[in-house]
Amino acid sequence: MPTLPRRIAHLDMDAFYASVELLRYPQLKGLPVVIGGGRRQADDLLGKLSAAYPEQEWTAEHLAEIPLEFFPRIAGYTGRGVITTASYAARKFGIGSAMGLMKAAKLCPEAILLPVDFDQYRHYSRSFKAIITDIAPLMENRGVDEVYIDFTEVPGGQRDGGRVLARLIQKTIFEATGLTCSVGVAPNKLIAKMASEFNKPNGISVVHEADLQPLIWPLACRKINGIGPKADEKLKKHNINTIGDLAARDQFWLMDHFGKVYGAWLHQAAWGRDDRPVSMDSEPVSMSRETTFERDLHAVRDRQELGQVFTKLCEQVAADLQRKGYEGKTIGIKLRYDNFQSVTRDQTLELYTADAATIRQVAGQCLKRVDLTRRLRLLGVRVGSLVKQGTEPAVINPPMVAEETGHGIQAQLLFTDD
Ligand SMILES: [Mg+2]
Repeated sequence: MPTLPRRIAHLDMDAFYASVELLRYPQLKGLPVVIGGGRRQADDLLGKLSAAYPEQEWTAEHLAEIPLEFFPRIAGYTGRGVITTASYAARKFGIGSAMGLMKAAKLCPEAILLPVDFDQYRHYSRSFKAIITDIAPLMENRGVDEVYIDFTEVPGGQRDGGRVLARLIQKTIFEATGLTCSVGVAPNKLIAKMASEFNKPNGISVVHEADLQPLIWPLACRKINGIGPKADEKLKKHNINTIGDLAARDQFWLMDHFGKVYGAWLHQAAWGRDDRPVSMDSEPVSMSRETTFERDLHAVRDRQELGQVFTKLCEQVAADLQRKGYEGKTIGIKLRYDNFQSVTRDQTLELYTADAATIRQVAGQCLKRVDLTRRLRLLGVRVGSLVKQGTEPAVINPPMVAEETGHGIQAQLLFTDD
């Protein structure tokens, strides 16, 4: 049987967080909307509405009826909040992901500012991914709003270079969720990722090997996923601005100047070569560390020793998470008493973390909810509800300004969603 040419798709949801909010508040369609800043309770707006019109009962079914004047505007925003997503109408004002809210307030004061609601985004994330795997089962998760899909062996995956299948997936997702996405189909992941941006929003781009020179080489090097700002700056110093410039350089020259591995990779990337498979590696659900004590310890009498072990376990879990690129928001403990009875307790945060101090703090709270009069033979710390780092809020410097409040852990965040 002849081998079919590889056809790999990269599918990226369009302005995902903002688009999900527009489903909930269709009255905001076409208006500049930015997602970011603090996190209010989801029913804040309904609370305002109830206060203004107490004679009527306002529930989640009325979200689409909330008048525009009830929505908070970005004007006058002060603080360090950052935009995660801007609606396409907001982008016309020059507002984009990762921009400070204060700057955005200057560009478009009348923009509507909505808080992030990850539960809602994850719900839609699961929906669109389930639709894709029903049609094309070989899918690789790249975060809450993007995936790679191997079209090669899927019926229709070769037709018109993959365009027919891409259109089917795009249409099915839209009919089921009301959300649009953009798809790039190419011989590999590297090119597919670039191609999905060509016709945003709601676009499809099909790229073949022969398109490398006319379509890819004129692009800036930064368009290659894996060339960051630092590498780009260095490339520019050597007068390498476009991917074509990069392709024109000798591989060994690149290896000399950018290191053996990275230099060789730069050369391959510029020539559109990438053999990485679409991998369905199942994601871990949780990570944990536990230790059995050499002798049973008592929470009060061995307080110091227990405290040290506890801190170390938290640091180890945090290190595991960071090394493997995950963060989680359900933090739990496991104890085994001297009579071999085990108990677990956990607590779910509003925010994802891989930070040892935060894990230690929350696990410490869990510890207060168990019987500590018996001696312990085992102690464990677990972090669950994991997501890939970078797909959820990443903690910025200073690491995490965490404080206990009535509403849980509050923190300053920086995250983006393109
Ligand atoms: Mg996206």
